[in-house]
Amino acid sequence: MQLIDTHAHVNFNAFKDDGEEVLRRCFEAGMSVVNVGSQYSTSKRAVEYAHKFANFKRDNPLDPIFPLNPLEPPESISLINPLNPLNPLNPIIPLNPLKSSENISPLNPFIPLNPLEPSENISPLNPLNPLGIYAAIGIHPVHLKKGSFTHQDPWEIDEEESASSAGTKIPTVGETFDYAKYLDLAQDEKVVAIGEVGLDYHHFEENDDIEFLKNLQKETLVKFIQLANEVQKPVMIHCWGVKSSKELDHARTDAYDDLLEILEKHPVAKKGIIHSFIGSYKTANKFITLGYKLGLNGIITYGDGYDRLIKEIDLKNIVLETDCPYLTPRPLEKGTRNEPLFVSHVAQKIADVKGTSIEEVAKVTSQNAKEILRLF
Ligand SMILES: [Zn+2]
Ligand SMILES: [Zn+2]
Repeated sequence: MQLIDTHAHVNFNAFKDDGEEVLRRCFEAGMSVVNVGSQYSTSKRAVEYAHKFANFKRDNPLDPIFPLNPLEPPESISLINPLNPLNPLNPIIPLNPLKSSENISPLNPFIPLNPLEPSENISPLNPLNPLGIYAAIGIHPVHLKKGSFTHQDPWEIDEEESASSAGTKIPTVGETFDYAKYLDLAQDEKVVAIGEVGLDYHHFEENDDIEFLKNLQKETLVKFIQLANEVQKPVMIHCWGVKSSKELDHARTDAYDDLLEILEKHPVAKKGIIHSFIGSYKTANKFITLGYKLGLNGIITYGDGYDRLIKEIDLKNIVLETDCPYLTPRPLEKGTRNEPLFVSHVAQKIADVKGTSIEEVAKVTSQNAKEILRLF
């Protein structure tokens, strides 16, 4: 069974002490992960991670493996997957070190890399497990405003009222989109999507100039769509409506309506993923008609609020994600830091609602992810 987490943030500070370890666990489980940038710095770090854990190249079976951190024993990077009988003995992470080194920041102490590491770690390619760690690069709409926002996960309104909705204050950078800088990142071979970028009306705060911010989010999205079309890659869209416990349906659709209008007016050649989808199945169908996949995460495990959506939408239109460190799926305890491995709980919930096996969910959604993100 192969699972792909199409939207993770192991590149965020929540993982600064053990991000590598977390990603190694994914390898050991035979998973693939797309780390998603939310501003320039985390986008760059996502690309660095992708190179550090670079995936196999099927067309070049002699690619050497990724050179290990000299301070760590080679066994620690083993890719042995005890759960996969087809893949018992292949502890490799291949990478072309000549390509990776230029993207590794010397200032980032937790992504060490030594491209000159001796060849003793070279091992034959494992053609059964061609995937790995990828990146998406963008500016999350909340980072267009300078200041901070209070992190609130939308399910809390539904399920847990205000007990935990005091949320966490997260500083935002007020980043201005620099096309040339992002173009440079976007051309990297490990970048499989442009984003996250999109519309977030959920995290507006009391004194915000909402019309100004909405317009800024829309303009930035359009510029990122131009970038996606220039490099011929899909987009990774974030879209959440305003927070309102009274009129959720309306609230959820207003951002989606704006997004649909933009995507119709500014088509993305390679389509993309509407990540962390929290709309109705009717809204979902509009995106599906445009050729988009819906990213589902832990939110669907917080109750039965999304069962209808899951039932109505064909599995072939769904991709799995965690959005870690946020949105930890049940039955894991609330407050646990989420990580890509936990995407299996999202798969299980979909399997339960659809009355199918987790293996089937894993197979179809991984195929969807490979197709839309071209992970071959
Ligand atoms: Zn998002
Ligand atoms: Zn995200």
